[in-house]
Amino acid sequence: MPRVAFGYKCQECGQGAVLEKIFPEYKTKVKGYPLVVENARIGVCDRCGAEHFDPNETVRWRALLQEKQSEFYLRPDDIKHLRKELGLPMEQFAALLGCTRQSLYNWERSDRTVPQSRMADLFMRLIRESRSLGQIDVLGYLTAQAEKAGFHLAISSKAKPTAPILAFARKIPLSKLSTQVHHTLSLAADTESQQEAVALVTEDNNAIATLSYDYQDAKLILLFLHAVPFVEFDAEIRFKDGKQTTGEHATIKNQEATVLTKTTHTEEDVAQIRLLPQELLSTSESK
Ligand SMILES: [Zn+2]
Repeated sequence: MPRVAFGYKCQECGQGAVLEKIFPEYKTKVKGYPLVVENARIGVCDRCGAEHFDPNETVRWRALLQEKQSEFYLRPDDIKHLRKELGLPMEQFAALLGCTRQSLYNWERSDRTVPQSRMADLFMRLIRESRSLGQIDVLGYLTAQAEKAGFHLAISSKAKPTAPILAFARKIPLSKLSTQVHHTLSLAADTESQQEAVALVTEDNNAIATLSYDYQDAKLILLFLHAVPFVEFDAEIRFKDGKQTTGEHATIKNQEATVLTKTTHTEEDVAQIRLLPQELLSTSESK
């Protein structure tokens, strides 16, 4: 595309001549986004001051905007790649991100005009980082992101990762637990609806695991509902009859841990369990 030769008559006032002018820092908006263009080449009328634009120049501005945005936002290909890695169709990934399928579709378009929201972008980045690095330090990540965005963030975790977790045994309908566990348990129970499981629920109402008794091996088993940041723990168990015991060195494997062996106490007898994590799962160990 040839450069527009300025010098023509201004269409605005019909009198002045449009002359080329270079603006070292031209503040404008491209597709609604604020952009500062260095050495912007614009035609300005020497009479009325109206600005005239060369399409060739504005193409350059659009490219500048894309370049600038790609530093802050995942690119369409990145999003599509991440979604495929997770094995999710658009509907499901959109549901996870809290957006419509149409929005996600637009973000994945290579010729998109608007990137994803900052929040969706951050969420996707966290998923991506976690997948490649294992468990990530979210606060550390946010601090780094803030640095990039040009402000300082100093936050540290309040949680002591090795702090004991106190959880109470509660009967919860299987339908309220995660689908994965629901599936496993309902197969075992061989009944579809209205089944309940004994779950361990923390004081802030977070179900962390289900509790079950293995009649064959006479052991008490925890099935974790989410990943936890430790693999080995002691379990201080208090039963409904007031008796107390400690299961030592329980190890989580495939989200499952035996907390007590050779016991006649079933999950129905448990009142509460205090989990005492023995170690932290370090980032270097996880994949
Ligand atoms: Zn003019």
